[in-house]
Amino acid sequence: MAQFKLQNVEDFYEIGEILGSGHFGQVRELRERVSGVSWAGKFVKLRRSVSSRLGLERKTVEREVEILQALQHNNIMALKDVFESRAEVVLVVELICGGELFDFIAEKENLMENDAIEFLKQILKGVAFMHNKHIAHFDLKPENIMLSDKKAEHPEIKIIDFGLAQRLTTGEEYRSLCGTPQYIGPEVINYEPLSTASDMWSIGVITYILLSGMSPFQGDSDEETLRNIVDMKYEFEDQYFSQTSDMAKDFIEKLLIKDPSERMTAEECLLHPWIKPLTRKQAANRSRSSINMKNFKKFNARRKWKMSYNMVWACNRLSRLQLLCKRAKEDEELRSCESDQEDIETKPASLIRRRLSSSS
Ligand code: AMP
Repeated sequence: MAQFKLQNVEDFYEIGEILGSGHFGQVRELRERVSGVSWAGKFVKLRRSVSSRLGLERKTVEREVEILQALQHNNIMALKDVFESRAEVVLVVELICGGELFDFIAEKENLMENDAIEFLKQILKGVAFMHNKHIAHFDLKPENIMLSDKKAEHPEIKIIDFGLAQRLTTGEEYRSLCGTPQYIGPEVINYEPLSTASDMWSIGVITYILLSGMSPFQGDSDEETLRNIVDMKYEFEDQYFSQTSDMAKDFIEKLLIKDPSERMTAEECLLHPWIKPLTRKQAANRSRSSINMKNFKKFNARRKWKMSYNMVWACNRLSRLQLLCKRAKEDEELRSCESDQEDIETKPASLIRRRLSSSS
């Protein structure tokens, strides 16, 4: 069981600026008082009572901590320490300064498939490591793929946010409706038993976007996106994939397969000729093919705009809720306005989307 320190985090770390926000709290810079070393602190609000829906249950935080403790790998965010108080848990993790991989790529003028593969290889190594430990991330998407230092000659990938991750046990089925519509596999939508193969579907979607700037199943609404996924409605449109190699398309096709057991595993991906060319011709093909940068920049700008829009919307909603809660006199009334639901409608998409900031 993970060791949660009952001391005050501020006795050991100076709390600095906000680095980001998740659905259950903020991530802030921390400076270790003794050494002066910088870290990041994920401040997670704990659920106060069984009936409350605000904050996370302690056992959910424990699960994230235990998973992070098991995952010591260069391409996975490292956990250093955990502090617990009555109202919150603080995860002290490695500080990741390079921002999101997609933002880094969007700043480039040109990018060849070769360069994209270097990043993808690191993602696959991190994912292969966690899958070998029977851990699935279940929320792989651009927002959760960061770079340790974007100024380095070879920036290192760091996979973050293990809030939905699960340790899978042989003989036990695990089902969940969580994730972000664009990146989840058909088995999630159909509420079928899940495995590490669901992460491989997400990697297929991320690769498709990375190469073309298009999202393979994106519809005009979340419902349409989910329908497109279940119907396996996607194609490589010439206008977006004219600069893409056939090997890259083959790689994606071997991941976007309806039956999870038929998809390539992370280990198999690392051996696919697009990632690890066996002949000179294969190597030459991928160094001649490029990313559709014009479209990728557009995709990323839209994604960032949507993230900020959702964040403002979430803050406004929180303020409204807090106002309501203040006015409520009875405990019963108070309880009814505590909610971590994002949408009041009961659309299937709002069931699936866990966080406002995660939909793009
Ligand atoms: P999370 O709740 O884990 O999804 O984190 C929310 C946001 O905080 C992320 O989207 C990042 O922008 C930022 N963030 C999370 N972890 C770190 C970290 N270790 N270093 C720097 N920023 C982070």
